[in-house]
Amino acid sequence: MLTFEQARERILARISPLGTEAVSLGEAAGRVLAGELRSPWDLPPWDNSAMDGYAVRSGDCRGSATLRISGYMAAGGPDAPRVTPGCAVKIMTGSPVPEGCDAVVPFEDAEERDGTVRVPAPVNPRAHIRFRAEDIPAGTVVVPGGTVLRPPEISMLASFGLSAVTVYRRPRVAVLSTGDELVELGELPGPGKIVNSNSHAIAAAVVEAGGAPALLGIARDDRHSLLEKLSAGLEADVLVTSAGVSAGDRDFVRDVLAELGVTPVFWKVLIKPGGPTAFGLKGGTAVFSLPGNPVSSLITFELFVRPAIRKMTGHACPLKPAVKATLAEGLKKKPGKTQFFRVTIESGEEGYVARTSGDQNTGILRSLIRADGIAVLPAERTAFAAGEKVDVLLLYR
Ligand code: AMP
Ligand code: MG
Repeated sequence: MLTFEQARERILARISPLGTEAVSLGEAAGRVLAGELRSPWDLPPWDNSAMDGYAVRSGDCRGSATLRISGYMAAGGPDAPRVTPGCAVKIMTGSPVPEGCDAVVPFEDAEERDGTVRVPAPVNPRAHIRFRAEDIPAGTVVVPGGTVLRPPEISMLASFGLSAVTVYRRPRVAVLSTGDELVELGELPGPGKIVNSNSHAIAAAVVEAGGAPALLGIARDDRHSLLEKLSAGLEADVLVTSAGVSAGDRDFVRDVLAELGVTPVFWKVLIKPGGPTAFGLKGGTAVFSLPGNPVSSLITFELFVRPAIRKMTGHACPLKPAVKATLAEGLKKKPGKTQFFRVTIESGEEGYVARTSGDQNTGILRSLIRADGIAVLPAERTAFAAGEKVDVLLLYR
């Protein structure tokens, strides 16, 4: 059986970024840039004022000085004449600095009266000027390929006038729940039946991970129903199923996937919860068979499916970096499996503090709702003392 790390490596080794598409800048937030962005021009494009004030020659202002205001320069022009000795140009933030000046004196450091301005204190050359290219010289790589486009990157793209951008395609993720006990939303569950919640939870997780979900509904625990639904799911970039992968009499998902030509990569991982997870491939489709327990399916999604989706979206770092947190309480586990504890996280004096968020039984969804993350407790260890630092994968943030 594979360890947690081995299973994740096997998945990621078999997944590549999908193709690309052009989207408008308004739709680009959260997408991953394909190909680097180089600045087509300098930013700022010219020397400009960082303050509302007066453009001066610092040489005129070695001590207290009174200067004649010889012009006015608003953002966007028109241009003021050059600053000549003994003169100042009134200037607004973002305006190109007129020729001849080498500093700006902010309004609050000057007194204007009758067409003159008094500058009481010496002025340093270069003061309050934003120089051409000081942010970004032309030709610099400003957003490398594989970067998620967040507001600052969007700001950069827009600064260069780009109205459309090439990003990786979002993976289409088919989501299938399996089980004779399931009814759809809106149906009243009769005796022995429960509402299919996994499809909706997994679809939400797909969106959060950067994929586009397509719900295939429910397949019953029989080969015919599974064949029909699973073969439809294999048209997608990713197929995620829930339930029917344990060792139960009616757990046919893996058999039917094999019948449909899916090559198994692994079944069962040394983890808790989520041990029976299976992964396979058919052509370009990655197939994840997650366990049915709502908690197990969401945790295994986070561990295995999310990184795969992120890699398909071209993300340079498919794995979410773990944070270190200090355990507020001692924890015990059996040796042999990597165990994932649902924890809350607080900011303490010395960084994050983790505490279990409630009952860790896989039947308890409430402790996942309360959790800020999952603590990763290594397979070989059995006892973790209060005060020890552990890795925590933050959830949904
Ligand atoms: P299984 O993996 O088929 O043994 O299912 C494990 C547990 O998860 C059982 O209690 C199922 O009833 C439950 N379960 C399976 N599928 C779903 C689903 N789609 N929504 C909510 N619970 C489910
Ligand atoms: Mg079942």
